[in-house]
Amino acid sequence: MTTTPIRNPIRLLPEAVATRIAAGEVIERPASVVKELVENALDAGASHIRVDIRGGGLSLIRVSDDGWGIPKDELQLAIERHATSKLIGDPTRSGPNDGLDRVVTLGFRGEALPSIAAVAELTIVSTDGTNDVGHKIVTHGGRVLTSEPAPRTRGTTVSVRSLFANVPARLASAARPQTEITQITQVVRRMALAAPQVRFALFVERRLALQTTGSGDLGTALIEVYGPSLRDRIVRLDPIVVAGATLSGALVGPEVTRPGRNQVHLIVNGRWVQPRGVLNVIEAAYRPVLPRGRHPIAVLTVAAPPDRIDPNIHPAKTEIRLRDDKLIAQELGAMVKRSLGTRPQSLQAPFRTSLPWLPPTPTLIKEDEDTNYGDDSPIETPGLPPLRLVGQVQNRLMLLEGEAGLFLVDQHRAHERILYEHLTATHGPGSNEPLPLPEPLVLELRPAQVAAFGNRLGDLAALGFQWEHFGGHTFLLRTAPELPGLFPGEPNADGSLHGIGEPETLLDAMRTLDDDSDEEDVSEGESWRERLLVRLSCRGAVRRGRPLSRGTMRTLVQALGATPTPAVCPHGSPLLVHVDGSLLEKQFGWD
Ligand code: ADP
Ligand code: MG
Repeated sequence: MTTTPIRNPIRLLPEAVATRIAAGEVIERPASVVKELVENALDAGASHIRVDIRGGGLSLIRVSDDGWGIPKDELQLAIERHATSKLIGDPTRSGPNDGLDRVVTLGFRGEALPSIAAVAELTIVSTDGTNDVGHKIVTHGGRVLTSEPAPRTRGTTVSVRSLFANVPARLASAARPQTEITQITQVVRRMALAAPQVRFALFVERRLALQTTGSGDLGTALIEVYGPSLRDRIVRLDPIVVAGATLSGALVGPEVTRPGRNQVHLIVNGRWVQPRGVLNVIEAAYRPVLPRGRHPIAVLTVAAPPDRIDPNIHPAKTEIRLRDDKLIAQELGAMVKRSLGTRPQSLQAPFRTSLPWLPPTPTLIKEDEDTNYGDDSPIETPGLPPLRLVGQVQNRLMLLEGEAGLFLVDQHRAHERILYEHLTATHGPGSNEPLPLPEPLVLELRPAQVAAFGNRLGDLAALGFQWEHFGGHTFLLRTAPELPGLFPGEPNADGSLHGIGEPETLLDAMRTLDDDSDEEDVSEGESWRERLLVRLSCRGAVRRGRPLSRGTMRTLVQALGATPTPAVCPHGSPLLVHVDGSLLEKQFGWD
């Protein structure tokens, strides 16, 4: 909820409440003026907000809205300190009863207009729509110079001129106009994403710089704010409820990134905020699919009951206290991971130029060679659209077709993903029983490794690897989890152990468990287990370069589509590339 449903009269806050307000400098630069004025327009229920900027905001900042306006007899009160229409005590409640514990508006302190009035020339024209004539006040250095009728349709226009003209220090510290304009644009972007139901227009030096349609759809707002190149890149998140809060949002796929870190937006109850913890979690969820050094674009929204949020901890109100914030951050991260992981990378570059020359030899597409010869029915899975197998390409890719075009699947990474899911499933409840090995495997460690390995025995057993300390530096492996064989009828093909790879590979992975701890953002206990699982699935997976029969390929696609994230391998690399039908049409000029 971003607006009060009805307008209340402006009144002075009692002294006791005013002292509980987080104090601090509200107006630091032109962008802070824009932020406060736009917040006021949103709080007044506006559906259309126009911002005009001249001289980097120092000559003019004007914000016009079609909200419910300010009645003539309250205009002077609006520029008094701690005068607000937004904090309303609840007479039915006992205890602290000032409304600070259930703020539903963006403003609540009654400080913005007086702070602006003190450092600029401020003009407010407004009408609450009760009659056609509006009223205007002009103030200078906080003193009212003019108060007179002025025509206006319902709503409010606030103009701020000669900002900081009477505060030389501030004026000197204002950056180049271009820098201020960048800041202002960023503020308007954030507000437009926080209020996608409102139409925004930003004019800089009389030229339209940003415009949204107020469609109410977050994905559409993202495209309007960042540009049409995002059009086919938006992933909308289905809302979920966690700890009484509804989480939702819209993501931009990892094909479009930014060099800077600040395009992940979190909106809590309509308020744009910047909690480091949440942003790090989102960034980490994107990390596996992003190019190095690039950062994502995304908007995540949280709607929570107002009494779970304290917005009164920061003068600029860009930080809040949110109950259950750790849990909520974790869930947001999981949502992002899930959505990115189920989304095939789509090929957008004109592939006529990027596809290598393919010689027309039959060896490119493997001949059918097993009993599944002729099984051409679509492969139906929960995670992927129905796909028909065309064949194997260059002994490393499976080529499939579906309604939406062509799909290329990396055979090695697909198998990796499948093995990884099976390995992780072995330590959950109802997990697969580990299988006893015909003969124990012997692991010799360096003396320095013994203690650390000994500490891992419980965790390894939970994964299905039961080790026994034989004495000295020697451990014996008695069991291993069973993984699905890829080659029916030859479960131990390549001397592979229950599908995990050769014994030497497994021992090697175990021996080097603690050798490279380069994971970031993961707690130590998780990181070695994750590394082991990734490594085992990589070593056990079918190599690129190996010819596959149609039956094997069908098995692979079937199992891949049953995993929760069929589009990304455990290392985070793409394993599924989608060539959109419309791209083919465009490339061939078929319309
Ligand atoms: P706050 O927003 O914290 O209440 P402000 O100083 O920003 O404090 O504004 C003071 C009061 O003026 C608001 O409580 C509101 O009643 C009124 N006001 C300011 N801007 C607008 C606007 N654009 N439309 C309607 N009322 C407004
Ligand atoms: Mg305000």
